[in-house]
Amino acid sequence: MQTHEINNRFTEHFRGRGHTVVPSASLILDDPNLLFVNAGMVQFKPYFLGDAPAPYPRATSIQKCVRTADIDEVGKTTRHNTFFQMAGNFSFGDYFKEGAIEHAWSLVTNSRDSGGFGFDPDRIWVTVYEHDPEAEQLWQRISGLPPERIQRRDAHDNYWDMGVPGPGGPCSEIYYDRGPEYGKEGGPVVDEDRYIEIWNLVFMQDIRGEGSPKDGYPVLGELPTKNIDTGMGVERVACLLQGVENVYETDLVRPVIAKAEEFSGKRYGEEHADDVRFRVIADHMRSGMMLVSDGVTPSNETRGYVLRRLLRRVVRSTRLLGVHEPVLGEFTKVVRDAMSPGYPELAGDFDRIDSVIRNEEEAFLGTLSAGSKIFDTAVERTREQGAAQLPGSKAFQLHDTYGFPIDLTLEMAAERGLSVDEQGFRELMEQQRQRAKEDARSRKTAHGDLSTYRTLLDEHGATEFIGYTDLSSTSR
Ligand code: ATP
Ligand code: MG
Ligand code: MG
Ligand code: MG
Repeated sequence: MQTHEINNRFTEHFRGRGHTVVPSASLILDDPNLLFVNAGMVQFKPYFLGDAPAPYPRATSIQKCVRTADIDEVGKTTRHNTFFQMAGNFSFGDYFKEGAIEHAWSLVTNSRDSGGFGFDPDRIWVTVYEHDPEAEQLWQRISGLPPERIQRRDAHDNYWDMGVPGPGGPCSEIYYDRGPEYGKEGGPVVDEDRYIEIWNLVFMQDIRGEGSPKDGYPVLGELPTKNIDTGMGVERVACLLQGVENVYETDLVRPVIAKAEEFSGKRYGEEHADDVRFRVIADHMRSGMMLVSDGVTPSNETRGYVLRRLLRRVVRSTRLLGVHEPVLGEFTKVVRDAMSPGYPELAGDFDRIDSVIRNEEEAFLGTLSAGSKIFDTAVERTREQGAAQLPGSKAFQLHDTYGFPIDLTLEMAAERGLSVDEQGFRELMEQQRQRAKEDARSRKTAHGDLSTYRTLLDEHGATEFIGYTDLSSTSR
């Protein structure tokens, strides 16, 4: 079943059940706490927070999402994209747990002839919050799943909140068992690679104050109107329904891998390290184009910097596959052809998107060859001194002058059998951050000051983004 068909079935299932079909919001919303839209609920936040009345009691959407927090997982796990589509259904004070469970269960297990996905119920597992016996009983009654396939999890995994005083509530997640060849027995609490999470249901029922129940804080009371927020990963469902190994091999992502094979002369599936590179290229090209399409351009600040980092990782991966000439312009066409049936803006605005990406590639290739000379000299000098570690000041210079992200320097050093004085690098970064902070104090913008994040992103890599995601996603 192609991605297009999965999206259609999802939408029709919920349209038929009284949901208003709402188009995806842009990846960029005016929210100072959020780098990119990373969940379907983001555009509905004012309704959940009670800041505005919901214009409909029920809604459904296929939301474009970017999760930079997952960047280091890409290509290594079977299930993490930086760009993915989250299909969701939402209830604003309308149906609650029972409805949410029933709607999800029927779509997942109804036969393909009757509009469902036709997953074998014997392979489905679910998790519930350990203090939510109501959800557990509802699952048993509605799905008939045996009790051992309904697993309890603590607040860390199965409690959702926005990280601020406001609504919160237990979650329940639906998993598919890929079988013993994919890992250990025992359900999702034991192995999340074998048991793939496909859908997360959030039951917003609590009012919480300062501090999260994750840290043992009690909830203050019950919300006057209870809401439902769910998110199903379209690429994950596609992976399972298409019988491929991972989300990068699904119909809308895989074509870029094929193109990269053509240019590199290497074959996907032959060597693990290369396979990761192929997947990174396919994943990041897609997120890069979707970001440019929604108005992001490469820069050294916040969103632009994320885009820059994604595109640089593509360039870097193509070089590691042995391609040294510019090729991103070949990949953009492939992404456009795969994605534009669902996202016609990729075709309509193609020339602009394509040139933004090709320009960035050209600039980075220039940077790489300039920085590589400095790098090579530093490697030589380190070896001459009989040392095994590049000085932090070199890593900092490469970062500051040549735009080398630290992960790039680390990777290149490792290829030459050297480590990097990360501690020293971090100290220099911290000093620079302090300077930037003082700078920023004098030029705060209406959207809040995000400039210091650039250095944070570099220093801590992906984990730094969690601050953004935790504030406003259903991610746990
Ligand atoms: P995981 O535990 O696998 O990282 P999650 O719990 O962080 O997933 P949620 O925040 O619950 O994910 O998001 C809702 C759904 O979106 C998930 O059930 C999954 O199907 C999908 N999803 C989440 N992150 C990704 C991703 N990086 N790539 C593709 N799909 C994703
Ligand atoms: Mg989840
Ligand atoms: Mg996650
Ligand atoms: Mg999860």
